[in-house]
Amino acid sequence: MLSVIIPSYNEEQMISMTAKTISDVLVSENIDHEILFVNDGSSDKTWDIICEEAKKDPHVRGVSFSRNFGKEAAVFAGLSEAAGDACVVIDCDLQHPPEKIPEMYRLWEQGYEVVEGVKNSRGQESGVHKKAAETFYKLISRATKIDMSRASDFKLMDRRVVDTIISMPEKKAFFRAVSSWVGYKKTRVEFDVAERVAGESKWSRGALIRYAISNITAFSSFPVRFASYVGIAMIAAFIVIGIFAICIGAGGNPTGGMFLGLLAFMFLIGGIVLLAIGIVGYYVARTYEETKGRPRYIISKKV
Ligand code: UDP
Ligand code: MG
Repeated sequence: MLSVIIPSYNEEQMISMTAKTISDVLVSENIDHEILFVNDGSSDKTWDIICEEAKKDPHVRGVSFSRNFGKEAAVFAGLSEAAGDACVVIDCDLQHPPEKIPEMYRLWEQGYEVVEGVKNSRGQESGVHKKAAETFYKLISRATKIDMSRASDFKLMDRRVVDTIISMPEKKAFFRAVSSWVGYKKTRVEFDVAERVAGESKWSRGALIRYAISNITAFSSFPVRFASYVGIAMIAAFIVIGIFAICIGAGGNPTGGMFLGLLAFMFLIGGIVLLAIGIVGYYVARTYEETKGRPRYIISKKV
């Protein structure tokens, strides 16, 4: 059975249409399925409509959060609740084309354990948004060492992959990256991001910035080590300015030499302090790595 997981936050206009579209696609392809809505603490009628849909169609199930916990939490809740041998995560607004689900499902039947939906295009977004998204993906790709520039949350995962992901004790995992990080036999399906059918994007600019910072820090300890790089640069500047100071002082300008010498010492002191903070940062980073409790390795096959 295939579980289709749909995080939904204030999507009252979408639930029925999404349930019907996905169900039509899967029924016509003869794929045994369940449709699992995760109501992420919506303040509109989303949950009531999910309940109605569940009454109408035994394939539809729903779980509801006590308040809004965010899409990531909704995705993980869906993965924990799903009963399928494979799970697909898809947005509620039909921006991820449901027609691609059968294609992903067939690839899964051929033995692929992760089928990633890869964006051909990002759909309609403003210039600033596009630039910011590009920068974020560049940073996160570097941090995870996985190319994430066209990654999306639209993904099919085998039961074993789902079990691996939900057994990780990490609370603030970035779904899109974690599902790549775990490895397994992977393939991709390209899709075009459609226009949102109804309602509006749930992400404010502030929410996106928080999301970016949270995900970068989940995968990289670079920010905490940054201080030490600045510290080293300042110590290097101390050496250069110091040599200048000596030359100017010896060249018959003791006041100028003294002034530059003082400046050089300021760089030295600042540099030492920053370097020390950076060194502490290394230990903080290591503690952080350990507290995430990620598995050392994941075994996918045995013979
Ligand atoms: N979503 C959610 N909780 C949130 C925000 C969004 O479950 O706090 C869901 C939303 O209902 C949709 C999906 O996440 O199914 C993608 O959200 P949206 O379309 O607003 O994001 P965008 O497509 O603009 O990136
Ligand atoms: Mg959307």
